[in-house]
Amino acid sequence: MQQATLVRTEQLNKNTTSFWLKPDEPINYLAGQFITIHIPHSSMDDRGDKRWFTLSSSPTESLLCFTTKLSNQSSSFKRQLQSLQPGDTLQVGQPMGDFVLPKSTQTPLIYIAAGIGIAPVRSILTYLKDRGEQRDICLHYGVRHEVDICYQDILSNWADTTTIWVSQPGADWTGKKGKISIDVILQNLSKAQRDNGWFFVAGPEQFTEASYRQLEESGIPDHHIIGDYYHGY
Ligand SMILES: Cc1cc2nc3c(=O)[nH]c(=O)nc-3n(C[C@H](O)[C@H](O)[C@H](O)COP(=O)(O)OP(=O)(O)OC[C@H]3O[C@@H](n4cnc5c(N)ncnc54)[C@H](O)[C@@H]3O)c2cc1C
Repeated sequence: MQQATLVRTEQLNKNTTSFWLKPDEPINYLAGQFITIHIPHSSMDDRGDKRWFTLSSSPTESLLCFTTKLSNQSSSFKRQLQSLQPGDTLQVGQPMGDFVLPKSTQTPLIYIAAGIGIAPVRSILTYLKDRGEQRDICLHYGVRHEVDICYQDILSNWADTTTIWVSQPGADWTGKKGKISIDVILQNLSKAQRDNGWFFVAGPEQFTEASYRQLEESGIPDHHIIGDYYHGY
């Protein structure tokens, strides 16, 4: 664990906030990895004072960033997080995780993100853009309402290969309607994507588990599926 200072917060939508941090010592990480955040506080509930968060920042950016949902019924941890002011400090663990780019730039990449699961995708897309690296990318991003969509500016760089699914759309939504369907995703992939692609699934635990299972049942080998399971939602 080491100390990091909150530099600023950024509200992405009504419930979603990014926290930009400056660690005391530089932290080396790969785009898509996660860290632990530790915020000791009094009157702590039974969920404790430590959480895992994916870094939504890219290693090409100078600050670390994680992104999370905050609500009126938040845990004591999230309430404490919400109360932090720029200049306050928290404890950060070492980066971990295999939700990272494969070494081969030829591997097709299929990202399937629900809600806050877009955080590692933001990290990876920012990294690729900053490095000028081209990859065969297909992104499916599911949200409940249009207003929940985050990172439109970054996603617009991949507009041709990005599908945003809105499960409870307003009358003006012209994009994909409904919940993410693994069957539909697979039907629309090229043979190369289906046979050689790596599938990265991120989101609430139940969503990631169900998607992983459906991919496996559809014949995708499990070493081609990488899941980030956000328990607690
Ligand atoms: C590898 C990994 C990466 C992750 N990355 C992210 C990420 O990038 N962003 C992210 O937001 N999360 C991420 N998570 C999940 C994160 O660690 C938290 O578990 C999650 O944000 C929920 O936080 P919370 O427990 O503080 O609950 P909250 O977010 O405060 O609440 C979530 C739900 O639980 C209910 N709830 C709140 N407190 C209690 C309580 N005491 N008892 C029962 N119910 C309660 C709330 O009403 C709400 O419905 C990740 C998890 C893992 C394992």
